[in-house]
Amino acid sequence: MPQPNIDASKLKVTLTETPKPDYDNKTLSFGKNFTDHMLCIKYTEENGWEAPEIKPYGPLAIDPAAFVLNYSVETFEGMKAYRAADGTINLFRPSMNMQRLSTSSQRIKLPEFDQEQFLQCIKELVKVDQRFVPDQYGYSLYIRPNFIGTEPNLNLMYSKEALLYVYLSPVGPYFPRTVKLYANSEQARAWPGGVGNFKLGGNYAPALKPAMDVVAKGYDQILWLLGEDHYVTEVGTMNFLIFWVNEDGEKELVTAPLDGIILPGVTRDSLLALARQWGEFKVSERRVTMPEMIRAIADGRMLEAFGAGTACVVCSVSEIFYEGKSYAIPVDPSNPDAVFGPLTNRLRTELLDIQYGKTPSPWAVPV
Ligand code: PMP
Repeated sequence: MPQPNIDASKLKVTLTETPKPDYDNKTLSFGKNFTDHMLCIKYTEENGWEAPEIKPYGPLAIDPAAFVLNYSVETFEGMKAYRAADGTINLFRPSMNMQRLSTSSQRIKLPEFDQEQFLQCIKELVKVDQRFVPDQYGYSLYIRPNFIGTEPNLNLMYSKEALLYVYLSPVGPYFPRTVKLYANSEQARAWPGGVGNFKLGGNYAPALKPAMDVVAKGYDQILWLLGEDHYVTEVGTMNFLIFWVNEDGEKELVTAPLDGIILPGVTRDSLLALARQWGEFKVSERRVTMPEMIRAIADGRMLEAFGAGTACVVCSVSEIFYEGKSYAIPVDPSNPDAVFGPLTNRLRTELLDIQYGKTPSPWAVPV
């Protein structure tokens, strides 16, 4: 008999008796406010997936010896629900997040789950807490699925018990300004043969001290360089894209390839697809090194550089500190106050218009 998988039709809903007051959009900062409910789905190797449950948001009871608390058996996702002008609530390419969660969870031996049924449960959670989906452009409801190993067992085998849970956080625009990067080749976020292409909690904790060290130096984020040739990989927790005139004199939007070191971002994939649809310039996924970027800056060939991720959509880079020197990156030469470069802004607007239902697209999936 196959073990039961997640079954959205068995979803049990217990509503809170103490609803929170509505949040004021003006005071929303990223990931600090949570909604009334959460989704929990338990797994045991013995009985498979239990009936999914939506219940009041609150603390989890976890055994102190659980795998997640000792060995970081944890993977997570980040996605958003957007309210369109007609009130419809859309998710953005959610099946990509389901696929990435599944791929990440396999890497840490968490059990397989039915991606469509799980997504159906997430949609139900968003519907239950739909009053928390902000109605202002740029604002959204951040959705955080977590998947953890809960078996209390110190033996390093694999966790025979697991919990998939999801909670929600209304958020405002993430980085409404340009960012200054500090290029770091001393420490690595990810490396060949490592797990940088999986969204594992264990990838994030070791980046905290390096990240705070650059903040102390007056920079916003790390530009992660890898290896002796200073391969430019990602920025902070975003994919990194540059728009330049390459050494062959071609206009090119370029980002690192999915070579095992790079997190396969949904935003990255979407921006590349949009730019390829336009067909106005070359779009490449290939390795670029920091010395190549420095040459482009010196030659005036660097047009724009930006980070891309669900939280911020895009954020333009105005400066990079590298090996003792600061390099200015153009944002928008025609407007000294611009927060986004022209191409960055065009990509951002096209993506937001899809997310907020202004431009019809199969990428916007109603809940
Ligand atoms: N790189 C890293 C390391 C990240 O944590 C994220 C955020 N998930 C991204 C890139 C961007 O991915 P996405 O566009 O799917 O949010």
